[in-house]
Amino acid sequence: MRAEERVLIVGQGLAGTALAWRLWERGVPFVVVDRDEAVTCSKIAAGLVTPITGMRLNLNWRFESQRDEAVAFYEGVEQRVGERVYFPLKQVRLFRDEAARALFRRRMEDPVLARQVVRVDWGDGADVGLLDERQFCVRHGGFEQSGGGYLDAEVYLRASRRFFEERGCWRMGEVRGDAVVDEVGVGVRWEGEVFGAVIFCQGWEAVRHPWFDWVPFQSARGSIIQARASQLAGEERVVNSSGCWVLPRGDGEVRLGPTYEPEFDARFPHEGSPEKLARLRERVDGLVVGGVEWLQVQTAVRPIVKRAKLLVGRHPAHERVGFFNGLGSKGALRAPWAARHLVEHWMDGKELEVEVDLRHNL
Ligand SMILES: Cc1cc2nc3c(=O)[nH]c(=O)nc-3n(C[C@H](O)[C@H](O)[C@H](O)COP(=O)(O)OP(=O)(O)OC[C@H]3O[C@@H](n4cnc5c(N)ncnc54)[C@H](O)[C@@H]3O)c2cc1C
Repeated sequence: MRAEERVLIVGQGLAGTALAWRLWERGVPFVVVDRDEAVTCSKIAAGLVTPITGMRLNLNWRFESQRDEAVAFYEGVEQRVGERVYFPLKQVRLFRDEAARALFRRRMEDPVLARQVVRVDWGDGADVGLLDERQFCVRHGGFEQSGGGYLDAEVYLRASRRFFEERGCWRMGEVRGDAVVDEVGVGVRWEGEVFGAVIFCQGWEAVRHPWFDWVPFQSARGSIIQARASQLAGEERVVNSSGCWVLPRGDGEVRLGPTYEPEFDARFPHEGSPEKLARLRERVDGLVVGGVEWLQVQTAVRPIVKRAKLLVGRHPAHERVGFFNGLGSKGALRAPWAARHLVEHWMDGKELEVEVDLRHNL
């Protein structure tokens, strides 16, 4: 692609926004077209960046390098938009049982993982001040990790949109896949305009996309809850226990979640399952002493590709048609790295890593 040709970015979620900024940094012209829906996966995301996650208590893939890149990237955005979007944050993870504690003892043998850990309550009665037991119910101990943080996705998306809109490179609209034509010798044509490339960053809806409906999506609907828990005022760390987390916001307001629904009716992406929400409520009531008052539930679909693959790259038969998807539950951490990787491939011809290259994962 020639440097002066414009890129059409479809979708302004965490994927499309990171891609737009990466092109901006390189001085490559682009236009982002987004439907401007009130609720999307990126708009409701808690934006947590967590070093040690999941039932297996693993350190996130390439955590330190991706986190460093994400932090530098968000700081760059903050300078350009004049608003704070990323906040470092300590996080407490409680062990669900003794087996989890034993597993974590083994995990701590990895020096890179151990570097993220500030203190551990091994459940032997020694008070390491992990949590105030008048606020949280601690049964099997746990640990505090640093090095993570959270992206205020709402502010990041809004401020980025404003920045691009003021410069004429953001538009509200819908780009239907069947309205995009890759014309040999001309470029990508959409609504009478010609672009050097189109990159689809549409989240889970790519499952119905005429160009990419063969990608094996296994997306999962999920809900996040705005709640009040005045007894947690003063606590600023995220507390995570057995599949749920509570993110205090300082003044007694909290966000909590998530639910995880791999089976859902695609006609209702914004309606959380009552059973899953009831289970989340039980878990939270078992965690927060005195319970919480639910205020609002928000639901959307995380774009997940089979085997939790983040995928970027070109359509197998169309060089000018790109794809950036599969951020799963880790969009805040991975989008800045993935967007740079894709742009370096697109503009400099750098090879994509096999693990994330769409063409190697057909
Ligand atoms: C409950 C829940 C909690 C989460 N918590 C976290 C968390 O703590 N940390 C974290 O990192 N991630 C979290 N995530 C995951 C995170 O939200 C995703 O990784 C990320 O939002 C995916 O971004 P995306 O840009 O790929 O997709 P999306 O956010 O879905 O963005 C796609 C965009 O494309 C637009 N679009 C679609 N089709 C078209 C079209 N034809 N034309 C124009 N525009 C179109 C949509 O309107 C949308 O704006 C969570 C997700 C959920 C559901």
